[in-house]
Amino acid sequence: MAKVAVVTGGTRGIGEAISKGLKEAGYVVAANYATRDEAAFKFRDETDIPVYKFDVANLESCQEAIGNIESDLGPVDVLVNNAGITYDAPLHRMSAEQWTSVVHTDLDSVFSMSRSVIEGMRARNFGRIINISSINGQKGQFGQTNYSAAKAGVIGFTKALAQESAAKGITVNCVAPGYIATEMVRAVPEEVLNTKILPLIPTGRLGECPEIARCVVFLAADDAGFITGATLTANGGQYLT
Ligand code: NDP
Repeated sequence: MAKVAVVTGGTRGIGEAISKGLKEAGYVVAANYATRDEAAFKFRDETDIPVYKFDVANLESCQEAIGNIESDLGPVDVLVNNAGITYDAPLHRMSAEQWTSVVHTDLDSVFSMSRSVIEGMRARNFGRIINISSINGQKGQFGQTNYSAAKAGVIGFTKALAQESAAKGITVNCVAPGYIATEMVRAVPEEVLNTKILPLIPTGRLGECPEIARCVVFLAADDAGFITGATLTANGGQYLT
């Protein structure tokens, strides 16, 4: 029977490519989103992938949504924690709201979603949890103490849960993308891209969303069971850990 995969923030950007990549690889996919109904319905109509609107920053919403997804599609075998936001400012100008909104959405969500599926995965002796971190969680980034802390936290969470879960057939890994050609990055003026960003990337180009999806599909596979606690870096050689 086809395995069930849940992708948070799975209707736009990198998450959209992950949802499509997993579907192409034979998974039954559920894609989550937060507020943008129009984009989500367009995605659903184009891909035939069902969409689920809930806030990944809230544990109760996650638990309720996983219950709904499991009664619609079956037990969750693969969880991709992809939803994330940025809210940049240097620390001396950062508000408490800027800090907490990013930490809630980018880090607490990884706890809430993983907590909602882990007991079922343990009972069935199989699971794949794949967390989308970031190059900026590995190297830090000016103006992103909140985001860098959350994304570094995701890497620590991954390593700890990998150790707890290995004996139960559950792997937990991270993918750490560099600059990817999403809406947000495409909005950067061409001159800034050419003079400030591309010279930092040895491949001389931005990454594409399907290149991140490829990493996720690889880690989700049944025969990827010996890879756990790892961070798969996909950044065009920009930062080598
Ligand atoms: P986008 O902004 O394009 O999409 C974000 C997705 O997450 C949307 O589907 C959005 O829903 C959803 N989302 C946001 N907040 C919540 C929430 N509270 N609850 C549920 N869903 C939510 O993001 P990207 O594709 O750019 O990034 C995806 C991931 O990759 C993020 O974790 C990001 O940090 C990481 N990343 C991105 C890089 C890049 O270059 N773009 C580089 C490195 C890491 P809605 O459509 O309703 O807003």
